[in-house]
Amino acid sequence: MNRDGRTRLRSTATVVGTLFVVVLEMAFLTGVWHLGDGVHRQREAAAAFSAVATSVASGSATPDALTRTVDGLARAGVDLTPGSVGATAVDAARALEAAPGDAGALATLRVADAALAEELAEASSARAWLAFAIHAGLLVGVSVGWFAWFRRIVDRHRRLERELTAQRVVDQRERRLLALVQNSADLIVVIEADATISFVSPSAPAVIGRTPDELVGQHVKDLVGDEAPTLLALLTDGRQGDQAVRLRLTRADGRTIVGEGTLTNLLGESTVEAWLLTLRDVTEQHELAEQLSHQAFHDALTGLANRALFADRLEHAISRREGTLAVMFLDLDDFKQVNDTRGHSVGDRLLVVVTDRLRSVLRSRDTAARLGGDEFAVLMEETDRAAAEQMGQRILEVLAQPVSIDGVSWAVKASLGIAFADTRSSTAEDVLREADVAMYWAKEQGKGTLRVFDAAQHAVTLDRLTLQNELVEAIETGGLLLHFQPTVNLRTREVTGFEALVRWQHPSRGFLPPNEFIPAAEESGAIVALGSWVLAEACRAAVELQAPGARVTMAVNVSAQQLCKPDFTAEVAGVLARTGLDPTLLVLEITESVLLDDIVSAAGSLHGLRDLGVSIAIDDFGTGYSSLSYLSQLPVDILKVDKSFIDDIVDDRHAATVTLAILEMSRSLKMTTVAEGVETSEQAAWLEEQDCGRGQGYLWSRPVPFAEARALVPGGAPRVDEVRVG
Ligand code: C2E
Ligand code: MG
Ligand code: MG
Repeated sequence: MNRDGRTRLRSTATVVGTLFVVVLEMAFLTGVWHLGDGVHRQREAAAAFSAVATSVASGSATPDALTRTVDGLARAGVDLTPGSVGATAVDAARALEAAPGDAGALATLRVADAALAEELAEASSARAWLAFAIHAGLLVGVSVGWFAWFRRIVDRHRRLERELTAQRVVDQRERRLLALVQNSADLIVVIEADATISFVSPSAPAVIGRTPDELVGQHVKDLVGDEAPTLLALLTDGRQGDQAVRLRLTRADGRTIVGEGTLTNLLGESTVEAWLLTLRDVTEQHELAEQLSHQAFHDALTGLANRALFADRLEHAISRREGTLAVMFLDLDDFKQVNDTRGHSVGDRLLVVVTDRLRSVLRSRDTAARLGGDEFAVLMEETDRAAAEQMGQRILEVLAQPVSIDGVSWAVKASLGIAFADTRSSTAEDVLREADVAMYWAKEQGKGTLRVFDAAQHAVTLDRLTLQNELVEAIETGGLLLHFQPTVNLRTREVTGFEALVRWQHPSRGFLPPNEFIPAAEESGAIVALGSWVLAEACRAAVELQAPGARVTMAVNVSAQQLCKPDFTAEVAGVLARTGLDPTLLVLEITESVLLDDIVSAAGSLHGLRDLGVSIAIDDFGTGYSSLSYLSQLPVDILKVDKSFIDDIVDDRHAATVTLAILEMSRSLKMTTVAEGVETSEQAAWLEEQDCGRGQGYLWSRPVPFAEARALVPGGAPRVDEVRVG
């Protein structure tokens, strides 16, 4: 039965029930109304009986009149059962009729009559009270009933009113929701549990170019196409609550859009019992984000990966590395000149050409990146050393092919370094740095070449770099010291002077001889500062070494870099002035090869030094290729014959012949000759015989600290005779 039917039935039942209760109440009240009727008749009959009894007693009536009223008592229903007050009265009336004037019977009659009247009065009063009580109870009961019923009605009314208000609110909300759904720009789709579409919002034509009618009743894959597996997986999963979804949908016009939104499980919601899919067209944002991400990870000019993306790819490649992985670091040679001479636009076009050529030779799975400026990198996975080197060569070849920009032809040369991540557990950063190091080696080796990173070689380089840094510190903090080796007059064996030789008291490596740090100092340029320190220190020591009657020279080794300094002569002059050393006691030793490398600038400096009064010696003579012609052009005073000749002069005729030729040449150029590295007295004797002026070697003394050197210069004429010192 429906709700209206139920309501009607309930109303009818209420009316019938009410009528029934009213009738019942009236019947009851009527009964109560007549409750005292019986007692009233008995009282009337008793009153009549009493009146007759009084008359009989006064003699104005006969006793039989009394007995007639007895019948009235019986008819009125007075209790006449034997022993009752009524029965006593009737018995006395009958006795009086039988014996009129019987005083006993009359007395009994009077007493019984009075008792009967009293009993009936009491009974009447009791009935009246009962009627009153019933009326009062009924009134209270009815009032309470009415009140309760009224309350119920009021409550019900209120509840109905509340329900009505709530319903109105719900209705209003539903209407608003409906309006929102109808007017929403988002696509709202209701998907049933069996994946069919049961509702599509009117925004569908705008979002996907299809009407709701085309979609309602279709399987959801008709809407999402290729993304169906993704969506169906979510539906099958049946997860509760909202799930973020991003789906690519194909519009009716064939364009693909990106929809982003939520899939909500409302299967448990009795009013829906379906899935709710809301999608917003985020194609533009998506494309913008992709564009931004592309810009963030690609080089704007060449479109190649940038450093960040390259590092990321390299990291991933290393983590999943199978086989050999090669990283190439490429730097264009002299690219700065292109920019400087032809402008940045030409430079940029050249970089684009380089990119195209790189792409043309690389495999599709290789990653090329522009790391910045004219630096490029290539990542080759699953390769081997030979293939990677071959690819490197190929890159250099294609880059070297002439490029014509604005009618000007360019040959792009590049230096390329390759590093491998195969056996060692290297990080992306390590491999890239190693390729960079190899690229620098290639640059040093000569442009347009390729070098492969070599860990052992790198360790040496690093070691040298550390040494160079420590050396700079040692120069500043006094970690260097000088030892002095005497030169002697071969004829008199007198000490004629000393050569200052630098040493380094290294904090961890110990006492280092010069050949362990001078090459590094030459390379880093620290040799200039080192040389300045040695020059000043040696001059100071030379002043101290002078003794009465013994003027000793001080020879200081000078590097090419010092000699090429424009202010070197001034520096020497300054040191001489500060220390007070006689310039004629200072000998500057320059290695032969230095003079040959830059003879013109060297000659200029040497003349300046000679003008100061300083002597010039050519060190290690014979190891270079000086010819007599240009030796004669230089202001040289001393030739130091290299130890390699002296070593063999006694046994080897060839060495002896060469040394003799040097001695001869020296004599003809009026130079003093010093034989280096004299270790035996045979050598010394041979040299003396050949009239070689001076000698230097362990035969007389090793290089020794200042105090020992000083001891070699006695106050008079120092003579050191085949004594080993140091
Ligand atoms: P050098 O100038 O030719 O110095 C001579 C080197 O031969 C010294 O080695 C010396 O100890 C060594 N020597 C001398 N006599 C003998 C000998 O009888 N037998 C042997 N086996 N060796 C002998 P040291 O002190 O190790 O110096 C090596 C080189 O380092 C020097 O060769 C010089 O070229 C360079 N050097 C040393 N001090 C300086 C400096 O202050 N400045 C510059 N630029 N170079 C320096
Ligand atoms: Mg020397
Ligand atoms: Mg030498």
